[in-house]
Amino acid sequence: AARHARSPAVENYRPAHDPAGAERLTLHAELDAALRTGQLVLHYQSTVDLATGRTVGVEALLRWQHPRRGLLRPAEFLPAAEQSELIGLVTSYVLDAALASAVHWRQKGIALPVSVNISARDLHDPSFPDRVDTLLHLHGVPADRLTLEITETTLNSRLYPADAVAKKLRDLGVRLSCDDFGTGTTPLPRLRDLPLAELKIDNTLIAGIVGDDDKRAIVAAVVELGRVFDLTVVAEGIERQDEREVLIRLGCTTGQGYYFSPPVPGALIGDVLRPDGERATSSDTRSG
Ligand code: C2E
Ligand code: MG
Ligand code: MG
Ligand code: MG
Repeated sequence: AARHARSPAVENYRPAHDPAGAERLTLHAELDAALRTGQLVLHYQSTVDLATGRTVGVEALLRWQHPRRGLLRPAEFLPAAEQSELIGLVTSYVLDAALASAVHWRQKGIALPVSVNISARDLHDPSFPDRVDTLLHLHGVPADRLTLEITETTLNSRLYPADAVAKKLRDLGVRLSCDDFGTGTTPLPRLRDLPLAELKIDNTLIAGIVGDDDKRAIVAAVVELGRVFDLTVVAEGIERQDEREVLIRLGCTTGQGYYFSPPVPGALIGDVLRPDGERATSSDTRSG
């Protein structure tokens, strides 16, 4: 409750004039409670080598097992957290859980690097790199086994101290990935200067790629950019074999999408590790 009192969302709250704000406040309080009662869970989606279908990593994707509303996707609740410092707690929770999973899988003979999505506020928090470092040491996970995904729009905001935080994370040895790439307008010199290890091509450029000359040209350009700047290029949202084939032809080596596996609860990750790139089944909802 003390932390709520400092939240800007609460200070600006005027119930009589802001019904949307009231709803947001309820969601915020519920989410705060959810974090403490284990209702937030991670699902994991594999990233695969496109040629072989072999899993080369997993991305943690947050879900809220809501007592009344069922399994919620991030779009339904994360924006409420991102408006306050609650997102810092959410990110720490996700990092802790994802690193614990990585250690657990490793003990079962499955050594997979994990990717975690972070928010704008994390990148603007000077204490964030220390928190990441502490969690890595706590779990005994080498920094280069962790990738932090940041959307292109966030990376481009350039507000102090985001660039310093990004550099500190890179200096720790953590890999940084530019998520949803192709939806923003990053100047190329900036792209070269950012301490990135990876570009993830947004879903929207992959959907319909088979019949769209422009999308194929854009993806080819991103693949070339990745080659020049020495970045891994990952295609998101692959849903069909013909999309996979086009991407391989364009020189993209790594991908992710329902075609290979939907996000699954951590306990099922062993099921998706098929060497032949066949689709795996799961209980995850594909709606939304
Ligand atoms: P993202 O990081 O770009 O993740 C990819 C999204 O595409 C995920 O949605 C995933 O379920 C979905 N997806 C995967 N394969 C396919 C496919 O073949 N087709 C289509 N149409 N979609 C596919 P999800 O899980 O709803 O997450 C949405 C976004 O929420 C993520 O986009 C990420 O930006 C954010 N997010 C997820 N988990 C976290 C988290 O723990 N922290 C933060 N800060 N953001 C998160
Ligand atoms: Mg991501
Ligand atoms: Mg993405
Ligand atoms: Mg995306």
